[in-house]
Amino acid sequence: MRVLVTGAAGFLGSHLCDRLLADGHRVIGMDNYITGTPVNLAHLEHHAAFQFIRHDVTTFIEVEGPLDGVLHFASPASPVDYLELPIQTLKVGSLGTHKALGLAKAKSARFLLASTSETYGDPLVHPQPETYWGNVNPVGPRGVYDEAKRFAEAMTMAYHRFHGVRTRIVRIFNTHGPRMRLRDGRVVPNFIAQALKNEPITVYGDGSQTRSFCYVSDLVEGIVRLLRSDYDKGPVNLGNPVEVTILQFAERIRALTNSKSEIVYRPLPEDDPKVRQPDITRAKRILGWEPQVGLDDGLRKTIEFFKGRV
Ligand code: NAD
Ligand code: UDP
Repeated sequence: MRVLVTGAAGFLGSHLCDRLLADGHRVIGMDNYITGTPVNLAHLEHHAAFQFIRHDVTTFIEVEGPLDGVLHFASPASPVDYLELPIQTLKVGSLGTHKALGLAKAKSARFLLASTSETYGDPLVHPQPETYWGNVNPVGPRGVYDEAKRFAEAMTMAYHRFHGVRTRIVRIFNTHGPRMRLRDGRVVPNFIAQALKNEPITVYGDGSQTRSFCYVSDLVEGIVRLLRSDYDKGPVNLGNPVEVTILQFAERIRALTNSKSEIVYRPLPEDDPKVRQPDITRAKRILGWEPQVGLDDGLRKTIEFFKGRV
């Protein structure tokens, strides 16, 4: 296959490029570096099957030659990033998804949208199955990301129903691994960097809110399986169902890093979801997929990556 990955210079996009190349595909990476970095793709510079195009996908996307797949991963993903880049976030989720779908249609390529557990907002159903429609505050600070992704899902289904584009939607739950930005503000880099420096670990709120953390290799395996599958009926959750409170998570990271950090409490950001855990029944059934890497094993690998960088 010849595949375009938007957001290729980001955390997930770069791992996806690696995996697709390892599987023998030809890959075009596209990115405008708004939250990504060329460092994440530097090792592919001389790879014969890899090509990079610097481009903002909210404007017309031009790719020469045939394409079999368009994987749309471009979007700020960290809450700190999308609060700093509200308009860009709305544009890449709406205009960017429209352009990427238009390209997929023109090339008769398969389209895969990187959506998110944020489409469930602050969920009132727990754990979250794909059939839950969510509880999103459209005018709150996180609305710029949540609503952009919800629009992106609606646009994807419209291209599927109206134009017959073969589409896939993956709702990604919190994922971590090497190449996350040290200062992207997400809980994984924050806590690991603080713990490695023996600085206070900043728990927002009372730390009773929950998240479920997936290691990047598991996520990428699920995405590749979804791309290959025939499932075009709607979204598929991918994530690790092992749920922890943020306070427990801080304590895990402190233990795994042998850190002397104290835990300090900071205000909870507005609309911060109180719980989050994927129901992965659908992924298990249609993809035969479930995570293989345990929480501690995954965290050890991510900690190893950050060790040389703090
Ligand atoms: P990231 O910020 O590391 O990567 C996003 C990439 O998209 C960056 O390289 C950025 O420069 C690029 N980009 C943004 N706007 C662009 C534009 N207009 N044109 C071209 N490139 C643009 O984030 P990530 O964690 O790798 O997330 C990738 C995708 O996965 C996002 O769509 C995100 O919403 C989704 N996602 C990630 C997670 C997670 O836990 N990492 C969870 C849910 C959903
Ligand atoms: N969080 C925290 N301390 C930090 C960063 C984040 O307690 O230094 C909390 C945040 O309030 C949220 C959870 O950790 O409840 C996960 O935050 P993240 O930014 O990783 O992404 P989210 O899951 O909210 O999209």
